[in-house]
Amino acid sequence: MRFENKTAVVTGGSRGIGLAIATKLAKEGANIAILYVGDENEGIKAKEELSQYGTKVEQYFCDVSNFEESKKVVDQVIEEFGSIEILVNNAGITRDKLVLNMDEKDFDAVINVNLKGTFNMIKHTYKHFMKKRYGRICSTASIVGLTGNAGQANYSASKAGIIGLTKSVAKELAGRGVTANAVAPGYIATDMTSVLPDKVKDAMKAQIPAKRIGTPDDVADVVAFLCSDDAAYVTGEVIRVDGGLAM
Ligand code: NAD
Repeated sequence: MRFENKTAVVTGGSRGIGLAIATKLAKEGANIAILYVGDENEGIKAKEELSQYGTKVEQYFCDVSNFEESKKVVDQVIEEFGSIEILVNNAGITRDKLVLNMDEKDFDAVINVNLKGTFNMIKHTYKHFMKKRYGRICSTASIVGLTGNAGQANYSASKAGIIGLTKSVAKELAGRGVTANAVAPGYIATDMTSVLPDKVKDAMKAQIPAKRIGTPDDVADVVAFLCSDDAAYVTGEVIRVDGGLAM
């Protein structure tokens, strides 16, 4: 029960990797606030699922790329839960195209959700963590933020940006008991990757040294470690969770 009496905000917590993270934290005692967009039934179902572990759970329909909207929701979570100890910036989207075919909207949309959304959430919780002299920030980057990927210039740039943001915030807040880290997943089986053509999936799987596609739980276990007090002296770190793919 590493997260008893702690509240975790998990963006993109309604499904996939985010729901696995929220589940892992709730199982170990955390109160959970999930933020998501899209189908409201998904958020309601996720809340029901997460509630079985007996902690306080709430779901908030909130676009993290919107500065004002995300500020309102963070303030509301602090009001309703009393405080926030853990921030997991996991919301993310893709709009894959070669730069040749990528227009400004494709670039802006991905940067706004993935990178600016992460900035917004850190900005809104920053003073709260400073005052508490405690905080765990963990953001979901990607191995393509380290390696780049043809067809994902917008997404790779957003994830590389998350790594730079994480390291900078880690340096700013290290003296205040606040850590900021990131995970860089490889190929994980979720809705995001289910849309890839089978040919691409098979080619990717063949390249993974661990010989299997990752699961959301593979990522959640590492995020939980980084959000726990076991990782109190780990900050500014990026941990690949990729079965050795980007080794
Ligand atoms: P997913 O598409 O299954 O889930 C995405 C989640 O983000 C949903 O809950 C959705 O509501 C939320 N979201 C999207 N836009 C949002 C917005 N503007 N505001 C608030 N919430 C928003 O994706 P996933 O595969 O679970 O990915 C989760 C994270 O992991 C993403 O940041 C993704 O880039 C990253 N990632 C995934 C993989 C993979 O292989 N699946 C690999 C590396 C990194």
